[in-house]
Amino acid sequence: MKFHIVSHTHWDREWHKTFEEYRVRLVRVIDDLLDLLENNEAYKSFMLDGQTIVLEDYLEIRPENRHRLSKLIKEKRIIVGPWYVQPDEFIPSGESLIRNLLIGMEIGKKFGSVMEIGYLPDSFGQSACIPQILSGFDINDSIVWRGISDEDIKTREFWWYGLDGSKVLNHYLPLGYENAKWLSLNNERNEEVIKANIKAQEPLTSTGQILMLCGYDQREPNPDLPEIIKRLNERYEDKGYKFVFSSLEEYVKEIRKEIRKSDKKLDEISGEFRKGKHMRVHGSIGATRLDIKKLNFELQSLYEKYVEPIHSLTLLWGFRYDNSLINKGWKYIIQNQAHDSICNVCTDETHDEMKIRYNKAKQIGNTLISDRLQEFCTKIRLDSNKGIPLIIFNTLLRPRKSALEVEVFLENKEFTLLDRFGEIVDYQIISTEEVDLNDFSIESHFMGKNASQKCYRVKFVFIADVNGYGYTTYYIQHKKYINDNKIFILNGNILENEHLLVEINEDGSFNIKDKHSGKIFFNQNVIEESGNAGDEYDYSPPEEDKIIYSKGKKADIEIITNGPIMARLKVTHLLSFPKDTYAKCRCEEMEESIITSYITMYKSIKRVEVKTVIDNKVKNHRIRSLFDSNIEDNIHYADQQFGILKRQNYLKEVEYWKKDNWQEKYYPIYNQHKFVNIYDGEKGIQIMNKGLPQYEIIGKDNPKIALTLLCTTDYMGKQDLVNRPGRRSGLHVKTPKSSMLGKFEAEYAISTINSEMEMNFLAEDYVYPLYSYMPVSISENGTIIQDEYYPLVINNEYIGTSAIKKSEKGKFLIVRFYNTQNRLIENINIKYDSKIFKDVKIVNLKEEEIEMDEKYEIKNSSIDIKSLNSNEIVTLKFLLD
Ligand SMILES: [Zn+2]
Repeated sequence: MKFHIVSHTHWDREWHKTFEEYRVRLVRVIDDLLDLLENNEAYKSFMLDGQTIVLEDYLEIRPENRHRLSKLIKEKRIIVGPWYVQPDEFIPSGESLIRNLLIGMEIGKKFGSVMEIGYLPDSFGQSACIPQILSGFDINDSIVWRGISDEDIKTREFWWYGLDGSKVLNHYLPLGYENAKWLSLNNERNEEVIKANIKAQEPLTSTGQILMLCGYDQREPNPDLPEIIKRLNERYEDKGYKFVFSSLEEYVKEIRKEIRKSDKKLDEISGEFRKGKHMRVHGSIGATRLDIKKLNFELQSLYEKYVEPIHSLTLLWGFRYDNSLINKGWKYIIQNQAHDSICNVCTDETHDEMKIRYNKAKQIGNTLISDRLQEFCTKIRLDSNKGIPLIIFNTLLRPRKSALEVEVFLENKEFTLLDRFGEIVDYQIISTEEVDLNDFSIESHFMGKNASQKCYRVKFVFIADVNGYGYTTYYIQHKKYINDNKIFILNGNILENEHLLVEINEDGSFNIKDKHSGKIFFNQNVIEESGNAGDEYDYSPPEEDKIIYSKGKKADIEIITNGPIMARLKVTHLLSFPKDTYAKCRCEEMEESIITSYITMYKSIKRVEVKTVIDNKVKNHRIRSLFDSNIEDNIHYADQQFGILKRQNYLKEVEYWKKDNWQEKYYPIYNQHKFVNIYDGEKGIQIMNKGLPQYEIIGKDNPKIALTLLCTTDYMGKQDLVNRPGRRSGLHVKTPKSSMLGKFEAEYAISTINSEMEMNFLAEDYVYPLYSYMPVSISENGTIIQDEYYPLVINNEYIGTSAIKKSEKGKFLIVRFYNTQNRLIENINIKYDSKIFKDVKIVNLKEEEIEMDEKYEIKNSSIDIKSLNSNEIVTLKFLLD
């Protein structure tokens, strides 16, 4: 038997201490590490936790040590990467995880070496997308801990398959990443450590290799390790055990050699791992601090779906694309996606800093867009006779007809909206307000007061028609808009368009009829409130819960607007909730709470949008919105990072997890990205969301989707929860801000679905609206640019757009999309502007060219792809002149 002793640290960049507090320790640890490695050749190597951000954090304080650090990294004595930060795997988008690796590996390479192993020692469960993403970076091995159960695997090494058929050799850590932290100069203690590791690892492997990770959270290297290894070799010589100062790369190499030698076939497993049997995965962690989770959704969407695609569009016309500034914004977002950070199991102070980082990313992103569009629009050749231009950007690859709410500044309240051919387009005013534009300009010391510039800030909504990735222009003319063909969407308590008929019930819930299938889905958006005796890590009910529903309680229903494009209702619930919840029960004293849902339906758009505003006055509770499916099935669908996952509605483990001493309850509570639905192959109900990652499927016969709108707690960690018995996770420190007192807005939408194609299609349209921009001035002398331009169009509804960006190196356009379906799809066609794009190549996630296989055919400004595998990601690289 060979024992690979790997010296490492697990560095939570922030958690129960802030980043700066941990950094004080980091600087000391790396200072000492440099001295130790330089002065002791026997100390072979030290792994800095599979991430590179610690290098940036250290060098900001000790720039003078860059050379020392580089030298040791190049020699692989300090081992870094491939990640930028150790991520959570469920909350970040697919593109965020890709950028985490792209940035992380780039930093590692600059220092001379990067570890090419998908090391994920502490993420709270493993996402199904990981093998696919790692393979895209030519990383062939993963090493993970949480979420794997002996019910699912028989050996520590197995092939972990991505949903697209890619695979990595996974190495499971049955005792976690601290299984050798107790090794010391104390021989008796060491015997216990060795015994425990043989017991846990030997039955799971036939390779005779034992991995000993010697390190722990925020710890320095153990300087005695060479001596300890020497003594272990002496002590166990008679048994033939061999102890080596090793690294993960050496360990993996040896395992692969052993596997090749033996003819034993390894197990093949695909999908996600989220069972808290042997270790905690905190299955309900996805709803803590939904204000921060929502910011994460907003900011990753801002960069993926607006900042980058809009800059890419202007790049095609010769404008500068600032990778450095854009990546600075990305870094703030990804720093927040570290597992403890985005799971929000930290102190209030740490969470406050996350909000500052999101704000910084927002400031960079929004300024980049507005500055660039101001400049770009002066180059568009616009005809002032057509009216005041309003430019509409579509940042997805496929054509869309989409409802768009815009805000413009106009001199006159009366106006007509036209498309670029001069046809009148229907619109509907949402609000009009008189403003003075001079308020937003500086008055100079020399010139004195500026003249006032009174005008109207007008918000209106219309259905915009865009034909692919690119933009079109609508025009506003100052003449009276006459619309005698007013179609009212709302009639009595019925909202209706061509797709859906929605009947609002007296209690504020509603029933949706799908006009295509005739199927009615009852009891949509029923509010459920219950106690939470859990902590930041887990929701957990009190021993005796009291659940309050809005069902059957009369709500106040008011019409906000009703016109040709949109109808909006305000549903107000006045509900009484117990003021607090304790471990045993809920508090007797009640508090009146107002929950207001704004329900919106647009003409010709197949969805009902809901914005629920919770004025939260009570502590330690959970509020969810419930949606009946009336579909008897044990399967539902939700999206993971790249495409759709089938998941079970009922999990049999819920009956025996406690008896079998699992670390936490296993039940159908999951994370999603854009949507979840229950669909029987012909009809179904789908709930889409903007930054509400958690849902649960409840009920066996009539499975309901329960979408978590708010889940609050006043402590980071508590002991002995109903859903998580035993020891505490984290510290028992108060986190008043996790009580989320005050107002919180939850945004989601409901649609019926009649085909698999609609799942991602409807969700993308809701989650990533079109973007509008009104130029400050009109340039009749604009140079080359037309008022409508679509450089790229994909005519396939199954395709999801992941990224449109400039390459990290050179001047290429990178376009990444994926098959959203869990099955093969055929005949994908991409049309592109061959005047702009000189050539096209296929690249991997590292943006390196790979061979184009025969399923691709390029001819006459278009790319035909014969078929795409289940959930396959494609990245194209277009050559610009
Ligand atoms: Zn950790």
